[in-house]
Amino acid sequence: MDVSREIFWNVGQGARYLTYGFMVVTFIVLGYGLYKRYKMWMIGKPSSFNFRNRLSDRISYFIKNGIFHRTILRESYPGLMHILLFWGFFLLAIGTAIVAFQDDILRPIFGINILKGDFYLSFSFIMDLAGILAVLGTLIAIYRRYIQKPQRLDNKMDDLLSLVWILIVLVSGFLVEGTRIAATSPEFEIWSFVGWNVAKIFKNMDKGSLGSLHAFFWYSHMLLSFGIIAYIAYSKLLHIITSSVNMMIRGVEDSPKGAIAPIPDFETAEEFGVNKIEAFNRNQIFDLDACTRCGRCQDLCPAYASEKPLSPKKFIQDLKMEWERVAKGGKNEDGLIENVISEETIWSCTACLACQVNCPISIPTFDKNIELRRYLTLTLSKTTSETRLLFKNLQQKYDPYGMGKRQRTEWTENLNVKNVQEQEVEYLYWVGCVASLDDRNRKVAKAFVNILNNAGVSFGILGQDEMCCGDPARRCGNEDLYLGIAQSNVELLKELGVKKILTTCPHCYNALKNEYPQVGGHFEVYHQSEFILKLIKEGKISVSNTLDGVVTYHDPCYLGRVNRIYEAPRAIIQKISKGNLVEMERHHDRSFCCGGGGGRIWMEEHHKRINHLRIEDAKKTNATILVTGCPYCLIMMEDAVKDKELSDRMRVLDLSELVSSSIG
Ligand code: SF4
Ligand code: SF4
Repeated sequence: MDVSREIFWNVGQGARYLTYGFMVVTFIVLGYGLYKRYKMWMIGKPSSFNFRNRLSDRISYFIKNGIFHRTILRESYPGLMHILLFWGFFLLAIGTAIVAFQDDILRPIFGINILKGDFYLSFSFIMDLAGILAVLGTLIAIYRRYIQKPQRLDNKMDDLLSLVWILIVLVSGFLVEGTRIAATSPEFEIWSFVGWNVAKIFKNMDKGSLGSLHAFFWYSHMLLSFGIIAYIAYSKLLHIITSSVNMMIRGVEDSPKGAIAPIPDFETAEEFGVNKIEAFNRNQIFDLDACTRCGRCQDLCPAYASEKPLSPKKFIQDLKMEWERVAKGGKNEDGLIENVISEETIWSCTACLACQVNCPISIPTFDKNIELRRYLTLTLSKTTSETRLLFKNLQQKYDPYGMGKRQRTEWTENLNVKNVQEQEVEYLYWVGCVASLDDRNRKVAKAFVNILNNAGVSFGILGQDEMCCGDPARRCGNEDLYLGIAQSNVELLKELGVKKILTTCPHCYNALKNEYPQVGGHFEVYHQSEFILKLIKEGKISVSNTLDGVVTYHDPCYLGRVNRIYEAPRAIIQKISKGNLVEMERHHDRSFCCGGGGGRIWMEEHHKRINHLRIEDAKKTNATILVTGCPYCLIMMEDAVKDKELSDRMRVLDLSELVSSSIG
């Protein structure tokens, strides 16, 4: 007996032509749906993005994250569910293609004749295994969505329909196999282990009834399978395509993650930012369509956790609904602001990028929020009273506090700090407004200077000529003010021949390193953590591991998540503490914001305080010292320690303070 099976067994030649006919219809319906979707994506403004740039990186990113689920598996339970479904269907799709190529119509054309003997047996086994994986994945998805109902998932009819449809397709496939095996009963079909066992259900039926039942299951399975393929373009299943493509677009970035995109036509534009959905570019529109509503972004959003009116998932979905409405011809007279996204929602974001970094398909939220902020700030001149004051201070005094140049250098009294304008030095220490003007953070500047002097580093500061880096203006949407500041800074730095910059502030670090190249400033920029570790490794400073007590480290968003500096601060702490560095539950990529970014540090808090939530994380570690590497985080965490009356059990220190005290 041949170890193989007859394709179109029992259903005959008519079924063969019908199958090919349905296949053509299915792909026409699918293609039409995709074409309509494509036209909808195109309502956005053209973007300069070029998919062919770094194409091999994009493909390899997709293989790692799309095929092998690296980002999706960051959360094991939903990750497992998805990988079972994906791999089950992936293998079934390959198997179906192999079967199609074996058919009498395609086999002579392609000359493939492999579905026999040992290959057939392995093939049968793998296909049944794939089917079981897909069934398991579907059942887990149904259980999770409709029985466990995690808060972050909303269940639309489309989700239920898709899952039930998928399950019926899979089960009907096994019924087709089971009835065929029951009717033909060759021993080798035991390799189709599911079909073999399903066949036992039908073992007492006569051949005629089995044939009719098989034909019924076969036609049902064929129609349902083609149906669901066509349905892809009209349902949430479209994410199979959009999420895969978006991973390749967003996962491999052409510019650094921390750099906000400039306004392209800034000199000539009549209005700035976005208030109509079609004013977003096509990549941004595509993001909206690629969102799978998984809610991972919402789980990690500090604004959402502190009960502000912002959920990144809802933000994206609200924009998506508006896009679908407008792209389908709906009226588009009212703007997005207040009608789709409220002003309070817009200002609630801390720009921490937790949503984007932890989104399995890297969908950015802040790139859209910043456009709404720009519209409010630049086009409508409608900001909050706090941001108005912030802009005024920056415009008039060049710092967010409005304290002015003279106070900027007060912290240097009695310290050995040169001015780069007076003496040639290797490094510029860019102090930043907070370390220059905030009393608590001035101690950090002094500690860093102590370290640099101790290591014999040739450095200087800009003194009273240092201005804000512009980060607060930019993240509050005032691109005009930011550009003025950034361009002046770049001009001055170039004039002074500055090449290498050190900074204790991750926000200054991000602006100088990632954003200043947009205005012609290209410098070597080091955050204190990288530079101190380098000094230790080179033996220029020696630190002792004498620090008692439990230490925990809070990742500043703009150091860790945005610039991926995670290990240098930890390596320094490990060298100084007696090995008692304990991680908080949320750390590295999943670290929780202090609440100070995105201009929020300059705004009143009307909801739960984000820093209070974060200090609870630190408290759970029983840490006696909380270390961070950002002036905003230092202020926010210290405030939280005071508010929560933890001062007698926990100190908050900056990395430089920790290092400086360990070198004396
Ligand atoms: S950037 Fe941070 S605060 Fe803003 S939506 Fe994303 S997670 Fe929330
Ligand atoms: S933006 Fe990303 S993380 Fe958030 S719901 Fe959509 S797919 Fe999930």
